[in-house]
Amino acid sequence: MSRFSRRRDSVPDPHPVDLAGRPDLRAAFDAVNRDLAATLPEAGPMRLTCTPSSDENVPDAYHVALCDGRWHGSVTDPAATDIAEAAQETVQAVLWQVWPVCPEHRIGVHSGFGADERDVWWCRVGSGHELCEVGELAQTLPGKQRRALRRKERGREG
Ligand SMILES: [Zn+2]
Repeated sequence: MSRFSRRRDSVPDPHPVDLAGRPDLRAAFDAVNRDLAATLPEAGPMRLTCTPSSDENVPDAYHVALCDGRWHGSVTDPAATDIAEAAQETVQAVLWQVWPVCPEHRIGVHSGFGADERDVWWCRVGSGHELCEVGELAQTLPGKQRRALRRKERGREG
């Protein structure tokens, strides 16, 4: 046994990842968490966690996790463009919630690329339409909900 080998029966719990050195990921999480706060506050905010690999030939696994630590799916190389999709996967698999939903067609939307390579939520009904940029879901809410949200945000700041 080499001194690098570790016990195989101890799968470590994922630990939170500090995004201080990854402004791209932090911005992606900020956008997704803004959308969760606006439309599914019970799920957010989400964060990046990591399950360190116990095998030096296997890369660490990263997850987009709920605030209570639950997650679904993993990637070995987290990229900002994947955060919205990974968050959506965790919400659907762990909370059994379709999120986000197109308010016009009442169907789940998907993350994708809009004009200028922006990350957007895309509704596939008909020939498809862009719902909004990721992070801007609040703008798709009916006026009454949007005003309630603004009141809540002001309350938090105050
Ligand atoms: Zn739609």
